[in-house]
Parts: sequence; structure tokens; C-alpha cells
Amino acid sequence: MLRRVLYIDLGKNESFVEERHDLFEEWLGGTGVATQLLLEECPKGADPLSPEAPIIFSIGPLNALFPAMTKTVATFKSPLNDELGESYAGGRLAMAMRFAGHESIVIRGAAESPCYISIRNDDVKIKDATSIWGIPATVVGYILRDVETGVGRRSIIRIGPAGERRVKYAGVVADTYRHFGRLGLGAAFGSKNLKAIVISGTEDVELPDPKRYRKIYNKLYRTVVQTDAMEKYHDIGTPININVLNQLKGLPTRNFQESSFEDAEKISGEVLADNYLFRRVSCAHCPIGCIHIGMLKTSFSRQHEFEIRKISYDFELIYALGSNLGVSSPEGMLELIEACERQGLDAISTGVVLAWATEALDRGLINLEDTSGIPLQWNDVDGYLKAIDNIVKMPNEFYSALAEGVEQASEKYGGQEFAMALGKNEVPGYHTGPASIVGLTVGVRHSHLDNAGYSIDQKAAKKNLSPEEMVDAIIKEDDSRGVYNSLVGCLFARGVYSTENIIEALGSVGIEKTEEELEILGRKIFDEKYRFKRREGFDLEKSRIPHRFYETVSTMGMVDPETIETMMEIYRKRRGW
Ligand code: SF4
Repeated sequence: MLRRVLYIDLGKNESFVEERHDLFEEWLGGTGVATQLLLEECPKGADPLSPEAPIIFSIGPLNALFPAMTKTVATFKSPLNDELGESYAGGRLAMAMRFAGHESIVIRGAAESPCYISIRNDDVKIKDATSIWGIPATVVGYILRDVETGVGRRSIIRIGPAGERRVKYAGVVADTYRHFGRLGLGAAFGSKNLKAIVISGTEDVELPDPKRYRKIYNKLYRTVVQTDAMEKYHDIGTPININVLNQLKGLPTRNFQESSFEDAEKISGEVLADNYLFRRVSCAHCPIGCIHIGMLKTSFSRQHEFEIRKISYDFELIYALGSNLGVSSPEGMLELIEACERQGLDAISTGVVLAWATEALDRGLINLEDTSGIPLQWNDVDGYLKAIDNIVKMPNEFYSALAEGVEQASEKYGGQEFAMALGKNEVPGYHTGPASIVGLTVGVRHSHLDNAGYSIDQKAAKKNLSPEEMVDAIIKEDDSRGVYNSLVGCLFARGVYSTENIIEALGSVGIEKTEEELEILGRKIFDEKYRFKRREGFDLEKSRIPHRFYETVSTMGMVDPETIETMMEIYRKRRGW
């Protein structure tokens, strides 16, 4: 392993490579290393949209070498919540970084005018992007792939107009169908005048013991493709959970006013697979193909001319732009997903923001003048499409507030009790019970993927877990995911990568670790992330929990504030805080 970090300064138009064995030996790779680089590079209190706030990408030691080891982590200071920004994407980026010979990339400064970065091995060029500024995220990739080399070993990540205009929850689209969605990486790109990064490489990877590598590779590959460990992700994909959660009363509907949706079946994974599924694609080096691409046929002239739009969908998008907005037509929901894709918006945040705005209008906190005459109503796809455009264009004070996220908008206009954010990050699609609420509150990036509280709730419902047992499960997940995310594996494959398999896979690439060492590392990585969060002002004691969580029945029944407070207290004690 080369342990190379590529530093690029957009302001100075220069780049250099450093070997950072110190970092990779102590922190493994991925999120472990990226967190350290963020602590090193980001000055305390930096404005997240200023040139001094860095953007960091990192892969881990197993990426592009083992099945489903496909993700790249980005760390940055989040413009949405002003503390730790961390987001993950699949696609081809991890593979391209591996072949370019860079395990981490640090982007400093800001360009004076729109640019994109072209990286081929150590050759780094900062190129003019004036002609593609303003172009939708869905189109930029088609343009850049014609002018850049490296096809087959190349990744193109880019922003849309939302990132350019610094909507605080703008994302970065990775290779068309994957995203660094959460916490506003797109706005950080926009603030640097950075439209895209194209990266490819021709390096080889030398392995210390190819025989040992082959043996563990075959074992893992067989588990992925010949057992049922990942079957559900290929078949219906994550949207299979729409019907499941709906039956369990865990599917947020109309801004969490309900937890089951009468039209869930119409937008379910099964119906989408039967009627709209066009094909499935995979991240590079994954045999699963869980990325479901829907097909929308639209007439664009009276002479029966049609265009076919290909739109990737998954559970979170169906929740955010489907049930949570009361949208019951699959076509309407796919249209909304595509609008977010074009603009380069995080779909979860956009859905939550629109749901809050719909309720705020209904309750008279805002009026039609605020919404520019759009009568936002549940299931009104046309209204929501116009509102998405306005969030990006920001024609008035109200839409500018929506572009700041639901926390900020509700601080200004009221309605915090139904502004569904935890840690100032719009919440994902689970109203499963207390473990989900506590998990999202304490998680390092306030994401369901920090500790899978939603899944702990489902176990708790079956096994009657005590608050202590739920908190212990949250902590165990928080810490073990620190290690897994340092390898930057796909979380869908976490069941395949047992600790024993991780130790064997690491050994085959020359990294010897014991179970105890990995356990300690996971805890240390969690602590380091909290070090950054606290340094930037995050205070768990001041976390706001929207009252709506206590008003709507969940999978675990009604949640009461005392249970949450008890679990938070247990959590603080267990962590020694
Ligand atoms: S399971 Fe899906 S998201 Fe995960 S690596 Fe494979 S294709 Fe990518």
C-alpha cells in the first residue's frame, strides 16, 4: 500500500503528493484517516463555505480489492449544521482513486472562477468550467466523459445548480447514479467554484501474498453471490422496505403526521420493479447490482414523440418524495426524484423541507405570498416541482430560508415542533421507535447509517429489549462502523464482513490487526469525530427533538419523552460523558 495523500490547492493552482504512513498506520484508512485530515486541515470555527474549509476524500485498504468494498468517504465542515460533514458514495470513485494511486485527496482554497479538477495518476490539472456552470448534474457527466480520458477506470463526480448556488443540502452526484447526498458537500464544492472532479489511473496494486489474498477473496465472493446474504438488495432492492415499514407503522407519512400511508402499495418496491424497473447497475467491483433504475416515458410533442428518462430510486427517496409528501403516483414520485437529481439536491432533505413547508402553509405560519403563489398541498406533484426549482433559484426570503434547511427555516417562521431534523440534519424514513430517535440524535453525522437505530427498534419490538440494551446496541454499532467505514465498504455487505473476515482480508494486503485492536480503533475514531463536533460547537445537551415524534404512533407504539431522556442519560453514562 502506497499511503499517498494528494493535496490540491485551488487558490494557488498547485498540487503535490505526500506519503502519510503515520496516518494510515494509526487510523487504517477511510473515515479514520479522513477525520484526522479534517482535524488537521480545517481551522477551528472556519466558515464551511469559505476557502479555508477543506474537502477531503478517502478510501481504505480493501477498496477495489474485495467485493462490495466500493465506497469513498468525504469529510468537510457541513454548511447545513456547521459541524462534522461526512458523506459516503459508491460508483467508481474508490476504484479510480485506487488506480490513480491516491488513498486520500485534500482540496484546499477556492478557484476564482468555475473550474473542474482533472486527475490522472499524479498529473493534476485545474481546468476552466465556465461553459458547464449552470448545467444540471444529470448532464455534466455526459459532457466531461467526451473530453476526458480514462474510460473504464474513471470516475466523474459533479454538482448541479443547487451546489453552485450553495443550497445548504446540495449533494454531489457520483457517476450518474450514486451520491454524496447528506450534509451539503455540494454547497462546499460550489463555494470553491468547483463543478466536478474527473479521476482515473493506470497504477497496479501489489499484494504481499497473492495466495492468501485469493483464498479470502474467493470466500467473500462466494458468500456475496452464492448465499442469500445480499439477495434482497438485488431483487427488489431497498424499496422492499416500503411495504414492510408501512405494515409495521414505521413509514413516515405527510411530515410524520402518520406512520403508515394508505397508498404505500402504489409506490412500493414491488410495484416499481414490476412496472418501471428498466435495469440494475452496480458500483465498480460489486457483483450485486442493487442500484435500481426506473424508466419514465414522457411525451414531448403531439406527434407521439417520447423521451425515456432513467431515474435511480431507493427506499429513502420513496419515503422523502413519496409517502412524506403524500405522493401516491409512481410517475409523480419519479419526477420529483429526477428534479432533485437535475438540481443536485439531497432528496431526503428536500422532501423533509417541503413537508414542513406544506404543513406550515396549512397552519398559516406562512402564506401564498411566501410560496410565490404555489399552493403547496400533499400529493401536489406540480406544486412540489415548482417549489424545488424555487429552492435553488431563491426568488424571495422564504425560499432562501428553505435553502438553509428545515432547522433554519422553522427557526425563522415557527413550527419547530414539526420541523423534522435531528442534529440539524433532516431525518431519514423511519418512525420505528426510541432507538431510531436516540441513534439519530447521538450519531456522528445524525444519519440512520451511523448506528441503524431503526433496526434496533425492530429487534426491540420482537425481543422486548430494555432501554439499556438498546443503548448498548447503538454504541456497539457506532463503534464497529468506525472500523467498517475506515475500510469504506458498502454497508449492505456488512453481514458478509465479519470481524474474522475483516482480519483475514486485511492480513492478505499486509495489515495485521487483532480483534481487540479493531475494537479499540472503532472507539477511538468515534471519539475523534466527537472531538471535531465539539470543537465546532456541537452540544448534545442542547439537541432539539421535534415534538412530532411523540405525537405519532411508531413501530414500538407511542414514544414518550421520558424514555428518550432515560436512554440519553444511559448513553452519556456509558460513554463516560
Ligand atoms: S450493494 Fe449496491 S450500493 Fe452496495 S456496492 Fe453493491 S451496487 Fe453499490
